[in-house]
Amino acid sequence: MSTTATRLLENYVAGAWTPAAAATGVLDVTNPATGEVLARVPMSGPSDLDAAVAAARAALPEWRAVSTIARARTLFELRERLVARSEDLARSVTTEMGKTIGDARAEVARMIEMVECACAIPTTMQGRILEDVSRNIDAETIRQPVGVCAAIVPFNFPAMVPFWFLPFAIACGNTFVLKPSEQVPLTQQIAFEELDALELPAGVVNLVNGGRDVVQGILEHPGIDAVSFVGSAPVARIVYERAAKAGKRVQALGGAKNHMVVMPDAVIDETVSGIIGSAFGAAGQRCMAGSVVVTVGDAHEQLLPPLCEATRALRVGDGIDDGSDVGPVISCDARDRISAWIDRGIEGGATLVVDGRGAGADQKGAYIGPTILDEVTADMEIAQQEVFGPVLSVIQAATLDGAIEIVNSSRFGNGTSIFTESGASVRRYRHEVQAGMIGVNIGVAAPVAFFPFSGWKDSFLGDLHAHGTDAVDFYTRKKTVTSRYFSSGQGSGQYFVER
Ligand code: NAD
Repeated sequence: MSTTATRLLENYVAGAWTPAAAATGVLDVTNPATGEVLARVPMSGPSDLDAAVAAARAALPEWRAVSTIARARTLFELRERLVARSEDLARSVTTEMGKTIGDARAEVARMIEMVECACAIPTTMQGRILEDVSRNIDAETIRQPVGVCAAIVPFNFPAMVPFWFLPFAIACGNTFVLKPSEQVPLTQQIAFEELDALELPAGVVNLVNGGRDVVQGILEHPGIDAVSFVGSAPVARIVYERAAKAGKRVQALGGAKNHMVVMPDAVIDETVSGIIGSAFGAAGQRCMAGSVVVTVGDAHEQLLPPLCEATRALRVGDGIDDGSDVGPVISCDARDRISAWIDRGIEGGATLVVDGRGAGADQKGAYIGPTILDEVTADMEIAQQEVFGPVLSVIQAATLDGAIEIVNSSRFGNGTSIFTESGASVRRYRHEVQAGMIGVNIGVAAPVAFFPFSGWKDSFLGDLHAHGTDAVDFYTRKKTVTSRYFSSGQGSGQYFVER
């Protein structure tokens, strides 16, 4: 229940915490484990966004002129500050999003790793030069910042996903506007407290709270040069099309349906624990969550009994308690939607072998327990659509080729895993499968910061992915200079006829 004393969040604009003066409304931010209202978040209006974009544009010349090495040093300091606040950040993630505290700590570690990767900018932002492309003529490509860059982010990684973008954008000399998810705006308030302490030039980083109106404004704003989006597939498509139409550089990371193929020679104990972590970690609310197991041959009979037993043993509860294995989902609406998906799966012909509905029913939070549906076929809706909850479907295939066909029939192509000890099966899978991130005996193959987050198909719209060297490509424009000088005494005399 909200009280008037509940803190109303502010935006961060031009180096200062600023009330959202044009807010069209206010939403409660709730702890999904308890229903407690943690804060109120303003739905900023057009002039709030305008102020942030104007500040970001005004800061560009000064920030761009700061040496690359000094920008990197600033990021080193940010890293130290975030490390010092990491427990606050993790507790904030658990409290507003629901995932277990262990999961939240891992997320914050990955957030910090993004900053570490961006610290390498004096190396990664280097251009290329080729002497003598013609007699005494040199060509060089240099990288320059793109301008004002915005990011729109989802609820499921309140700490990490904004940092897929922010450190790389500012490392490259851009200025930045972040719109956090209105469901989880608190963790970025902590991150921005630490950014504020860096005393960057006013306007280098800005935070605008809000919902779809702010997104709409970002997509059409003439002052924004590049847009990064992470969220559901339908919104990713809207963002990609509108931002591109407005002439902006855009990358849009969408939803997913990730398959885990289990071969008959898989090491079953390890495979079970990989699948459990993948399917039920963060209560299935990860774009890299494994939501379909495809068993090959007799892997089904080896896998199912221990998988069901381990699933039933998972403890559902408040993520802040060390004893909980699975926290709540983001909201009671999400819980009811996931429950309806389970009903539809059963109606569509699946067999319910572990039923998580009703788990945590004695508590106030948005709980739904880990659920397994067996005898699913690739044509069923439950096998094709993203559920975004702790629901695992099991499909059987006779051969690895049959399994690959099932995986490749999905419209999504984010991540996939194969569990096997056979190098030949791995080679075939890696070569044939149409997904951008592959795990081998690893359930969640989310790349570390130094590699791109390389989803395919409907899971990604754009060319350049998040983090790794792709981030430097996204946040820089290339300029190629072809040059010669006449006063060097090296004329353009030809020593031999060039072919
Ligand atoms: P969402 O699409 O509902 O929201 C994402 C952002 O878009 C939020 O900031 C929200 O305010 C805004 N938004 C929502 N609806 C909008 C609309 N109609 N018009 C304009 N803006 C809108 O996603 P979510 O529920 O916050 O996050 C879960 C989704 O994100 C899942 O589909 C998940 O797979 C996806 N996701 C993908 C990746 C990836 O890397 N591919 C990573 C994390 C999450």
